[in-house]
Amino acid sequence: SLLGIRTPGDGAPRSGYGIFLFYDLTEMRRLERVRKDFVANVSHEIRTPLTSISGFAEALMDGAIDDPKTARSFLEIIVNQSHRLNSIVTDLLHLATLESGKASLIMKPVELATQVDRILEAVRSVAKEKNIFLEVEIDPPSLMYETDEGKMNLVLSNLLDNALKYTPAGGTVRISGQLLSGRIEIAVSDSGIGIPKEDLSRIFERFYRVDRARSRELGGTGLGLSIVKHVLELLRGEIRVKSHPGEGSMFIVSLPSK
Ligand code: ADP
Repeated sequence: SLLGIRTPGDGAPRSGYGIFLFYDLTEMRRLERVRKDFVANVSHEIRTPLTSISGFAEALMDGAIDDPKTARSFLEIIVNQSHRLNSIVTDLLHLATLESGKASLIMKPVELATQVDRILEAVRSVAKEKNIFLEVEIDPPSLMYETDEGKMNLVLSNLLDNALKYTPAGGTVRISGQLLSGRIEIAVSDSGIGIPKEDLSRIFERFYRVDRARSRELGGTGLGLSIVKHVLELLRGEIRVKSHPGEGSMFIVSLPSK
């Protein structure tokens, strides 16, 4: 039967099935709770920007539109919050595909330095604005590995986005790559705010943030690292974190090189 319950007549010892059933239900309840928490979290995360969008739009309609300065600042909020909604939905779609088990891998040889260069292009303006020094050290510079480039782009851009988000102006963000006992190791490190020890084991959970308000303010969705974790599971990779609050963090990704 569905839960593995056996009726006394089918040859199973009577004392065994009680425990079997108990474990099954506990796991099912846990999964059900995880699913419900997730739906509640998603709803909350989506409602926050939506409330702000409708609130400021209504305020404009109620007269704020007549003062150009106020109108402009309200419109800016509306645009920002729409971008935020868009990031949440994009991240949720990535997660859904990754968790569906239907994500297919397209493996091919990739030159790490070229890949990193392309990803850096997208964040160079942010780094410049915050006066953050970007450093790349790939050894050897022609280092190649076999991977799904699109999915690894998600990993590297999420780690890099975080490094930039959680590093105050004037800091440094560094990406390094090397071969180590037949595996490729890519490290993204920063001189930022760091992560308290007690949070380190939880940051890969969906929607987990050390500082919810700060993450939101910086445009975070709380989903980035869970996407990273999922992609690395698919690619038979691993990730480790070292961090010291107030000094910085280092995320080290290790992958089979072919
Ligand atoms: P978010 O969108 O909030 O950045 P993530 O899943 O990418 O979500 O990260 C989860 C949390 O881990 C962040 O909210 C932040 O508290 C912490 N974190 C991730 N990367 C860093 C980093 N480089 N430095 C400091 N804290 C970080």
